[in-house]
Amino acid sequence: MEIRLLKSSFDDDGSASERQHTACFVVNGTVAFDAGSLAMAVGGDRDNIRDIVLSHTHLDHIAGLPLFVDDLFSTLRSPVRVYGTKAMIAALRTHIFNDIIYPNFEEIENEFGRVLEFREYEFGIEFSVGGLSILPVEVNHNEPSAGFVISGPSGSVALSGDTADTDGIWTAASAAGDLKAVLVECAFPDEMSKLAETARHLTPSGLKRELEKLERPEVPVFVVNIKPMFRPQVVAEIKALGLPGVSIFPVGEAVSV
Ligand SMILES: [Zn+2]
Repeated sequence: MEIRLLKSSFDDDGSASERQHTACFVVNGTVAFDAGSLAMAVGGDRDNIRDIVLSHTHLDHIAGLPLFVDDLFSTLRSPVRVYGTKAMIAALRTHIFNDIIYPNFEEIENEFGRVLEFREYEFGIEFSVGGLSILPVEVNHNEPSAGFVISGPSGSVALSGDTADTDGIWTAASAAGDLKAVLVECAFPDEMSKLAETARHLTPSGLKRELEKLERPEVPVFVVNIKPMFRPQVVAEIKALGLPGVSIFPVGEAVSV
């Protein structure tokens, strides 16, 4: 399975910055998990992605979604399919695709038909998308929010989404016999643990406690969703913990597991 974390900002010379402002992971070049910078940074996979699975509806996870549909509008021969819980879909209809913030693309057709279709998933119920089997697990962030166990022919990957301390995703990841990797968030440095608690994110110390729940010490762990303004400090604190098998996911690059 190949997982690419799209870049979301640029250095002065135009190269991808390692500051991750938004979240969008493209799996096997065809299925996007979240859509933070999807329209802006997807590159050549633009024409292959028609399925977008959302973890939650915070802006840094959906900012590129309306622009992606807009980008493809005139060429789509089948709708872009967006997967979320009933509440996530309601939030997108009310707050984004409402003809105020952006057009209601559910109602506007191109010459081939519909361009946007929402599909509901429920926590704990596996569904299939693009050759992947996806188990959404509720995590501890704004409500509702999901982490995922994503399974394909070559194995499974767990993606925490945004979360504070939680249990279900670790139980589900530990139970995946073919688990190849874990992607887990760590947003804030330890000195901001109060804010992390309020915003329901992890700090390096919290990450360490969470990883103790993962009963698969041999599986590599990649840290994602580090707040860009605190990135150097968070990375230094994670490295200082010396956690075996834990590394930082390179922004703008792909990891094959
Ligand atoms: Zn969030």
